[in-house]
Amino acid sequence: MIGLNRKLDKLGRVVVPADYRYRTGIDIGDQIKITEEAGKLIIEKVKPFCKICGSEENINEQYSVCEDCINKIKSI
Ligand SMILES: [Zn+2]
Repeated sequence: MIGLNRKLDKLGRVVVPADYRYRTGIDIGDQIKITEEAGKLIIEKVKPFCKICGSEENINEQYSVCEDCINKIKSI
């Protein structure tokens, strides 16, 4: 892959090119995780997960809770 040279602005921000966002499935407004590994920054899209049990399946994104937990709460 050919890299692009970009400058960080005064606040340390950089624009991620639309082509890169499209190919990685990272879109404007997505929650991202930034990690450092061997002197390189890695940007990953954060998958929605249940704030109660940690599951990544059947997430109600409005509440950030999985349907199983919603059903358990409703049955209380
Ligand atoms: Zn859950």
